[in-house]
Amino acid sequence: MRSAAARRCRVCGAEAQVYLRYARAAFCAKHFVEYIEGRVRRTMERYAMLRPGERVVVAVSGGKDSVTLAALLARILGGEAPERMLMLYMDLGIKGYSDKLREAVERLSGELGVKLMVVSLEELVGVASIYELARRARRATCSVCGTVKRYVMNAVAVEAGAVLATGHTLDDALAYIVKDFMYQDQERLSKWVPRTPAAPGAAPRIRPLIEVSERETLLYALMRGLPFVHEECPHRPRDSVEDATKDYLNRVEEAHPGTKISFLRRVVSRAAATGADEGGTPRTCTICGLVSRGDVCSFCRLTQRVLGEPMGPRVRRVVREKLASLGWL
Ligand SMILES: [Zn+2]
Ligand SMILES: [Zn+2]
Repeated sequence: MRSAAARRCRVCGAEAQVYLRYARAAFCAKHFVEYIEGRVRRTMERYAMLRPGERVVVAVSGGKDSVTLAALLARILGGEAPERMLMLYMDLGIKGYSDKLREAVERLSGELGVKLMVVSLEELVGVASIYELARRARRATCSVCGTVKRYVMNAVAVEAGAVLATGHTLDDALAYIVKDFMYQDQERLSKWVPRTPAAPGAAPRIRPLIEVSERETLLYALMRGLPFVHEECPHRPRDSVEDATKDYLNRVEEAHPGTKISFLRRVVSRAAATGADEGGTPRTCTICGLVSRGDVCSFCRLTQRVLGEPMGPRVRRVVREKLASLGWL
């Protein structure tokens, strides 16, 4: 945040609080917030992320990115937000962490006037914590966590008849894209479209923050005084490929402002051009009916192996009950 204080807001001339190098622009808090909102609005329009009247489930973890996403979507949907938007928080039972996240998300839901659905791992599969599930699966906590979260988010959006919105930022997207490139995973690279279309057993997915950096989501959350949790998950691995990639790209961005966004836009336009004929026939899980790579989805396989019963159908039932009690269905 170099010498922002010495500069003046581009809009109102007041003392600036943020300087964005790639835009060569300084802003006061109020006009920074408006600037980011304008950007996300335009990104959503450019990629036709939400259709008129379409409903959206927003996965909110309680961290800066997803909290910023929920707050932005509530503003963008305006008076329609209470009807069209549902926040989803998954309590994974991480001691000393999940409770703080949940509190932040509950406060946010109250402040935004948007419905919140809280589901705990205990309710979904009868295991108290993700750590416990991973231990019994003999797998890394983050990997099990990823499988469970992806499954539950999609299940909620499918049952809710809604689009799923996630808080992936520009930095997240590029870190995954570089990783896909390293592994030469052409199928995944071709899927980097800002709105993934619906498929049997899969809700459409959107990433409204795909053109907003992590630094910007942090500043946005701080400047609006949004409730969020700063600390990272205790199970999160240090020195991941994604983190190293983010650091590298930020150094390139520092030397050549604007690199990150043009990188993203090239990948997205290429994916949009080739994506339609990639990916083969979508399949569904023979047990739970949701999208799957094989006959049985990874969530049903995991829970079958660890708990002796594939939990997909149970998760879908619990989710339907919750949605009904929220008056959503
Ligand atoms: Zn201003
Ligand atoms: Zn399944």
